[in-house]
Amino acid sequence: MSLSSLKHIIQNRESLTWRQGLRVMAAALLVGAFIFVFEMLFVVQTLRDDTRDLQGQVLNLAESPATNAAWHLDNGMADSMLEGLLAIDTVKSGRIVLADGVLQAEVTKERNFVPSMVDRYFHFLFADLDHVSRQLLAPDWSSSPAEREVIADLYIEFDTLKTSRRFVKLIGVGFWSSIIRSFLLALVLGIVFHRFLTRPIMKIGENLKKVDPGSLDFKYIPNAQGHEKGELFSLVCYFNDMLHRLATTQQNLRRMATRDPLTKLPNRALIHEELGSNIRRSLYNQRQFALLFMDLDRFKYVNDTLGHVAGDELLCELAERFRTQLPASIRVGRLGGDEFVFIVEKFDNHTALIGIVEDILSLVKTPVKLNELSIEPCASIGIAIYPDDGKDIEQLMRHADIAMYCAKANSAEQYTFFEAAMIKSSEARFQIENCLHFALENNEMMLYVQPKVKAGNRKLDGCEILLRWRLNGQVISPATFIPIAEETHLIVPIGFWLIEEVCKLVRKWLDWGIEIKVALNVSPRQLECGEFISTLKNILSRYPECTSMLEFEITESTLMTNLEAKLRIIKELRALGISVAIDDFGTGYSSLAYLRRLQLDTLKIDQSFVSDIPYDIAIPASIIELAKQLGLKTVAEGVENQDQFNWLTRKGCDLIQGYLIGRPVSVEDFEEEFLKQDKRTTNSTLIVD
Ligand code: C2E
Ligand code: CA
Ligand code: CA
Repeated sequence: MSLSSLKHIIQNRESLTWRQGLRVMAAALLVGAFIFVFEMLFVVQTLRDDTRDLQGQVLNLAESPATNAAWHLDNGMADSMLEGLLAIDTVKSGRIVLADGVLQAEVTKERNFVPSMVDRYFHFLFADLDHVSRQLLAPDWSSSPAEREVIADLYIEFDTLKTSRRFVKLIGVGFWSSIIRSFLLALVLGIVFHRFLTRPIMKIGENLKKVDPGSLDFKYIPNAQGHEKGELFSLVCYFNDMLHRLATTQQNLRRMATRDPLTKLPNRALIHEELGSNIRRSLYNQRQFALLFMDLDRFKYVNDTLGHVAGDELLCELAERFRTQLPASIRVGRLGGDEFVFIVEKFDNHTALIGIVEDILSLVKTPVKLNELSIEPCASIGIAIYPDDGKDIEQLMRHADIAMYCAKANSAEQYTFFEAAMIKSSEARFQIENCLHFALENNEMMLYVQPKVKAGNRKLDGCEILLRWRLNGQVISPATFIPIAEETHLIVPIGFWLIEEVCKLVRKWLDWGIEIKVALNVSPRQLECGEFISTLKNILSRYPECTSMLEFEITESTLMTNLEAKLRIIKELRALGISVAIDDFGTGYSSLAYLRRLQLDTLKIDQSFVSDIPYDIAIPASIIELAKQLGLKTVAEGVENQDQFNWLTRKGCDLIQGYLIGRPVSVEDFEEEFLKQDKRTTNSTLIVD
């Protein structure tokens, strides 16, 4: 036992060694006390027996000379015999009394010690042994003792305090030896137990204290020395077993807390942690790193139309591609939903980073088979670079997110680097999103109308209803708020409100006797909402006379996904009597096969092709040709000048829409400008110079 551990044991009264020592000591003392009591009883008995033996021997020794002295009445002899007895230590006095009662001789000895209190206390044990006497018989050896005459009595007194004193001495020795024996026993047992039990237990405890089952390379505790078998060995085994389970649970917990359960990629918490260490490394190495924020395009649509299982499958497939096909130095994680992040630590320059971003995008774009359908996923990526675009995790994440939103808003770009100016536009977007929730309630949505004329006679043939939002006295363009309304699904209630408003308008014009086709734009989100047809029927049931006046403009890109469902809806629309136009035609990838199956009414040539007329006419020419072959009407939108008008008319385009004919205006202005001049005639002629 080292000095320090001894000190520790002494100071720590709660220590096992200390408490065990005290108990061993108490037990040893108790056992010692029992043994001591028995020893003492034995000593008393022995002392009494010895005293009796001695007294018998003294009587035997004195009997013969005393009988002689009494028989011959020789007082001198009697005296010297008694004097001789006094030489025996414990003999206090002696006397011979003759048969006639005369005292022949008597001797007494002074006590040569002073008895202590203790001697007197224990005197009762021996007090009854204080004297002996014997009758002295006439020396007539021929007769038997019973027949012989008693000639005198011999009395001998003993000092039993001396025996008591001897006893006290013996118990003193017995008492102390018993105490010392108990103490030594306790000490020896204490050391033995400490070395054999307490120390190994303490060692196990110390080893246990050092173990951190949360760390990945934790070590099991070793066996206690000298306990390769037995209870302590079992104890160590139990502990190790428990540690193993604890470590497994802890690791599972950590995995659960830091992994996204669906894709098993690092989750937001772990990504934050890793960004923290990236920032520290970056500060140390003076190197940049990039954070890429990726959001899938139209993921909501996959979920809604193909189901959540397919959506999950898509996410897992992408996660697997990232995990297996990207270099290990690129850390990838999923923040939730369809948002992924990538931490790119090593890139030589801007161009190299763009190369990595494009690699990621091409990984995303590889088609995935979901429910027997081949989907080509698409994504937008925002890029923020540490430390230029953000000094801490929060800022970096926010700025990468903003850049991603800008990439999403700008359909031409699939990735965008963060720029400080984006913050303002993202704040504005957030404000718009907030206000849009109350736009209908606050009566802020307005209908604008743009005329369509027949190419041949320039007579008003129809119009397109375009939404405007008046917010705080400012008119917000649908190009700004429609994408937000679509993203937030607010387009669904706005869309139904618009249909009802258009019906009211058509009814009013019908009442005026004006029958013109009124086109309105229908967003893919509206078509995808489950109750589109039923709600539409419900609205139309209140305006039955309006149905044939309506034309729904559906963009070509809307048809690119989930075609079968869209075909069903278009069929139902046409069955109701509503015309259907394909808006922005030419920008998508419509195949002839489905155009034939769609049973459409109109193709609207996208304004980007119209603006190229008359320099680049290949596309508008083939669209008009195609429409003719399919028996569809054509509308050219965005017609701004006479050359375009003339070319389109020559080519046989049916209807013209654009600033050349008229800009979108409020309903009142439209009525004032195009309808009121002749409310009763169906076709107003618009003179275009
Ligand atoms: P769109 O359906 O292609 O509508 C035509 C857009 O071209 C309109 O923009 C219109 O004002 C504009 N335009 C018309 N003639 C000319 C022209 O000669 N030159 C030029 N440069 N532009 C012309 P607007 O009103 O800003 O609407 C933008 C888009 O917002 C629409 O494109 C449509 O996709 C969407 N939108 C508008 N109203 C609604 C609506 O009620 N519902 C839905 N779902 N989308 C709507
Ligand atoms: Ca349109
Ligand atoms: Ca259009």
